[in-house]
Amino acid sequence: MTCAFDLDHYRELLRSIHAGGYRYAGFDAPPESGVAIVRHDVDLSLDAAVRLAEIEAEAGAWSTWFLMTRSVFYNLDSSEGERAVARLRELGHRVAHHAVWPAVDLDERFDRVVAWHNPDPEYMSAPVDGATNVMAAPWFNAEHYRSDSNQRWRHGCPHEQLARGEFEWLQLLIHPEIWAYGGATMGETMRSFLDADRAARLEHLRADRIDLA
Ligand SMILES: [Zn+2]
Ligand SMILES: [Zn+2]
Repeated sequence: MTCAFDLDHYRELLRSIHAGGYRYAGFDAPPESGVAIVRHDVDLSLDAAVRLAEIEAEAGAWSTWFLMTRSVFYNLDSSEGERAVARLRELGHRVAHHAVWPAVDLDERFDRVVAWHNPDPEYMSAPVDGATNVMAAPWFNAEHYRSDSNQRWRHGCPHEQLARGEFEWLQLLIHPEIWAYGGATMGETMRSFLDADRAARLEHLRADRIDLA
């Protein structure tokens, strides 16, 4: 088993969570023994988010999706953004807020849970008024946390440890773009994302009745 960042291995990761006997949980209660709290920070692509969300639903999984209101890459207020939020909810997932310091735009679209985008250590774990900060205790604990940031697992891909039930509980951060777009390196994967984004934007231009002849 090679631990590639692709959709097949994402399915394998979900099978490992199942094999390890974990049950899915969110951020509405302190983590209990035996839970897998799967979290997604959506930095770049709502398409990638919806694709992974559908794969999770097929596997009987659910997770919490952290969406940005101030992304330079996507617009949650667009029709595409509204469709993505509706689809995530319809699939049984939770939707929370991926905030850009110091702005917190918690409106009715979001559960009252915040994950900061690229946080500095000074505020990463600080309390957030009226919301749960996912990087604060008891949800965050370094031994119970794994992240795929930049296609680099600090302690290796956790799928085998999950399958063996070695984590008492785990918060698992998955960036959907890393798995949804092809590429052996982060640079290649980002270029795949940009190619797909360009094609999608050409379609938006056509839909806006721009003459592309
Ligand atoms: Zn793996
Ligand atoms: Zn982020």
